[in-house]
This record gives sequence, C-alpha cells and structure tokens, in this order.
Amino acid sequence: MNTETINCDLCGSDQSEQLLVGQDFLHGTKGQWPVVKCIDCGLIFTNPRPAPESLAQVYPDDYNPYRQRKRKKINRRWKIRRWAMQHHWNYPPGPGGLFAKIFSFLFILWTRFHYRNYDLFPWQGRGKLLDYGCGGGKYLNRLKDLGWQVTGMDMSEQAVEVCKKQNLDVRVGINMDKEFEPEIFDAVTMFHVLEHVPSPTETLTQVNRILKNDGLLVFAVPNIASLPARWFGKCWFPLDLPRHVTHFSKETAEKILAKTGFKLEKTLAQQHGQTISSSLNYLARVTGKQKFKCFSRFKRICYLVELLSILRGQPARIVVQARKVRKINLNTEPPK
Ligand SMILES: [Zn+2]
Repeated sequence: MNTETINCDLCGSDQSEQLLVGQDFLHGTKGQWPVVKCIDCGLIFTNPRPAPESLAQVYPDDYNPYRQRKRKKINRRWKIRRWAMQHHWNYPPGPGGLFAKIFSFLFILWTRFHYRNYDLFPWQGRGKLLDYGCGGGKYLNRLKDLGWQVTGMDMSEQAVEVCKKQNLDVRVGINMDKEFEPEIFDAVTMFHVLEHVPSPTETLTQVNRILKNDGLLVFAVPNIASLPARWFGKCWFPLDLPRHVTHFSKETAEKILAKTGFKLEKTLAQQHGQTISSSLNYLARVTGKQKFKCFSRFKRICYLVELLSILRGQPARIVVQARKVRKINLNTEPPK
C-alpha cells in the first residue's frame, strides 16, 4: 500500500508528536498507522496515511455504510418524536399552542439520553438539506420523513446506486463545488464523514460556499478527547485506522469551524452502545487475554460504562451543531 505524509490540515505546521501506533482491526488491512498531534494547534491526525491511489484497499466492497438498510417503520414512537420536533423546533406544518410547546420540550429533553441524536436539530429556512456522505441513504430517508427536501452525496458509486433505487436525489463524488451552485442549501449534515475526508478544512470550505447565510451545519465525529479513547488507546473502537485520518475533539472541531467561517453552537453526546464492548474485543486480540472478551459480553454493563463517559461530559462520539457566520475564501485569506 502506498502512503503519504502530510502537514497539519488546520495550521499547516510540520511539527508533531506521536501519540500511538494502531492497526486496522475492522477489515484487517496490513500496516501500522501512527497517530500524531500537531505541536502548534493540537489537531490529531493519522500520519503517514494511505495515499489517494490506495484508498480502495482500505474501503472494501462490503464496507458497512454502503449497504442498503431496511427502512425504519413509522411506529408510534417515531410519530411522537416527529410531533415533538414540529412543536419544539418549528418542523412543518409548524408549532401549536403552549401545552404542545411544554410537552415537546420535555420529550426532546428525554430523547437526549435515549437516541443517537443524529437528527435532533432545529428546522432551518425552507428546509433544503444536503447529507454529505449519505451512504446507503438510511438517514436521508429519516430526514425526508421529517419534512426536509433532501439531496445526498457520496464518493461510493455503489452507495449512490442503492440510494437511487429508493428514488432519492443523490450525486456521486466528493467535490461539492462541482455539483452545486453557491448558497442553495439551508442545512448540511455529515454523519461520520469528516474524520474520513483528506482535508476537513477544504470540505468545510465547500460546505460554507453551498450553505445560505446563517445556514446550519450538523456533523457527528468520534471524540479523541473522550474517556473511552483514553482508556483504550490504540484499541479504542472508533479510532478505525487507517480509514479515519483526522481525530477530532470538541476543541479542534471548534478551531476548524472558526477557520472555515462557522460558529459552533452546541455539541451533544451521540450514543452508540457498542463502543466499550468492541474496544474490549480489540484489547483481547492485542493482549491475548480472554478476560477482556468475557467482559465484552456483559453488554448492559458496557452500556452503563459508556453512559458514565457521557454523564462526565466526555462521550466517545459527539454531534456538533454549527452555523455559517461569514463567507470564506481560503485562497485569499491568510492562514490562521
Ligand atoms: Zn496544526
């Protein structure tokens, strides 16, 4: 596999310190991958990393997000959730009276501890939304159910085909500048994408261009500053080397947003449920100690441990909500 060595994507520095050296536990591709921290700005990234011409080797055809998923049934819980979002966040057809507002507020508060928090964000403008890195369209369908007028984009032709079979408007590629006119979207979502792209600042600059003024950006990324990341080190499940090339924390996410014309509004914890048990399995493989594998079978205890990291404010995954506050052109702006 060919590799490339890069400078820090956030500040351009070539000065870094090595934090750990990991491997591909998920798909077993060969190689040892150093994770480094920029000495100047603190951004953490994989360096060296797979070169662009070798990416096909680290994303096999059966890569999970590309698969078609069964569409979730519209059950009673989903209907209540949609109702709450209508009254709390002005989703169509618009909010009702005071009682609806109070109960929807309580429901949204409750969902913070029970859901993955992906689609829990306010309505924006006329509801034109791009889901960048849409995979097999799972969340495009959910967002469409909530009333958004959705467009998707993904680098995988296979994933785009899966979406098109479901009559979704989806483009193939990674360059948003080529596909879309400036300032046409009210909201852009990126669920577990930014950690994969070669240059997050370039991707966010493109998002800045296609978003309307005051537009909403929502993305989810693993949190390298989390408690589970510190506990498990190179065995931390969401590290996912070498596919994850940038490893964000809330602090570095905020810096990269500021550089690309956004203001961070809030971060939420995203629950997963398998972070601890999968990390324990990796730990068993590395150390050869079967006791870690045994621990990993106690799913409820693993779940409680994950909940503990969320309650301590250091969850393994974060959902970041940001707003476009200024237009950006990196070619004419001095680097920060
Ligand atoms: Zn840096």
